[in-house]
Parts: sequence; C-alpha cells; structure tokens
Amino acid sequence: MQFIADMHTHTVASTHAYSTVTENAAWAAEHGIKYLGMTDHGVAMQDAPDTWHFENLKIIPEHLCGVRVFKGIEANILDTDGNTDIYPDKAEVYYGILEWVNVSLHQQTFTPSTRADHTKAYLNALKDPHVDVICHSEGPKFDYDFDEVARACADSGRLIEVNECRVERGELQCERYKRILECCEKHRTNIIVNSDAHFYTHIGAFEKAEKLLAEIGFPEELVINANEERFLGYIKTRTERVSRNV
Ligand SMILES: [Zn+2]
Ligand SMILES: [Zn+2]
Repeated sequence: MQFIADMHTHTVASTHAYSTVTENAAWAAEHGIKYLGMTDHGVAMQDAPDTWHFENLKIIPEHLCGVRVFKGIEANILDTDGNTDIYPDKAEVYYGILEWVNVSLHQQTFTPSTRADHTKAYLNALKDPHVDVICHSEGPKFDYDFDEVARACADSGRLIEVNECRVERGELQCERYKRILECCEKHRTNIIVNSDAHFYTHIGAFEKAEKLLAEIGFPEELVINANEERFLGYIKTRTERVSRNV
C-alpha cells in the first residue's frame, strides 16, 4: 500500500513527544506523506498543552515543506455520554479552527469500566459531527462491542484507526485488531492507519500495521489513507457533515 496521510501525530506541545511540527512535516515530505494531522492531546490529559495551543493553531500555515498540515486534536472521551475535553465553553473556538478530530479512551482520563460503558462512550462520541476517528481502540482494558461500533462508524461515515504503535505492542493487540477489522470488513467501515508518532522518524512508518492488514486480506478500498482520491473524498464528506452539523 502507498500511504499518503498520517493523521495522528504529536509534537513538543505534548511534552512526552519530542519533535516540532516543522520537523514532522519535513520528514513526512521526504517519505511520501502529503497530508499530516497535527493532533496533540486534549487538555484533560496530563502533559497536554493548554487550551491556548488549540486556540492559536490558526497561525500555522496550511502547508509546511509542501505537506498539508491539518490542525487537529486527540481529544479524550471523558464519560459514557461521549463528552470530550473539547469543553462546551471552548467548542465554538476550537471548531472554528480544528480540521481533524481524533478521539480516544485513555486510562488517565477515563477509568476503565464495563464493556457496555465503553461501547456507550464510543457511540455517544460519534454524535459530535466533528469527530473523525476512534483511535487505538484495541486496548484490552477498554473492551467494547466491536461489531456495534464498527456498524455505527459505517453508518455515520467515521473511521476506525489501526495504530502502528499499538500493533507493535504485541500479539494481544494484534488479535484484538483482527477482530475489530473483521467487523469493519463486514460493515464496510472505513479505516485509517496512523503512526501516533511521538518522534518524527515514526511518521508514515506503518510496516507492522500493513503486515497485519495483509495477513487478514483486509480490503484496500476501505483504507482511506492508502489512496489520495479516497482520502480527499473523506475530507470532502467530513466538511459537508460538519457544515450540516449532524
Ligand atoms: Zn492516545
Ligand atoms: Zn496519540
């Protein structure tokens, strides 16, 4: 597969990441990644940037080193109602600027609960039209109904992420991803492969995730960042969805 986008990357704004957005973009440019999501952690996460970071993202040019940089966030899902740390009093400002929204369950901001609770949290998070991707959902502590969430993503045109960092963690993660991907194939849910890079050399490197997809013969036409036309098609759809606000 020829990947052209990596829509889950961190910068020094999350201080446990170590590269600047310019370093990230320069590396992306050299490695065939034309679209880059700059998605630092939402404010509820320890080590996340302040709200100022997100409010000021507008000063970053659309293109850096020839790479289209999407101003994004990895927001934390905080409860079973699907609320995130894009708090209501900041939502208008954030959404005036943000072009890409990843959402994740993290143990720091959501105490692992029941399968039903995690399922509910994901399903409710999808009610926000700005949400693009459910990230690294294979974590065993956050078990959920893969089938129901994959179907909801298919129905609402959202994406499920295969996260290279997590695939690298080992067999358990791979097995869970295989089960998630089975549901995605069944419901024709689009997926996206991302690095979750916390250092620039990891950007666009999807070897293990690609191997996993090949192993199960996952249909390439459902991988939105393996084809530029498909990726831009998604961007068009998400723009329409957000403007309709549904
Ligand atoms: Zn994360
Ligand atoms: Zn991340």
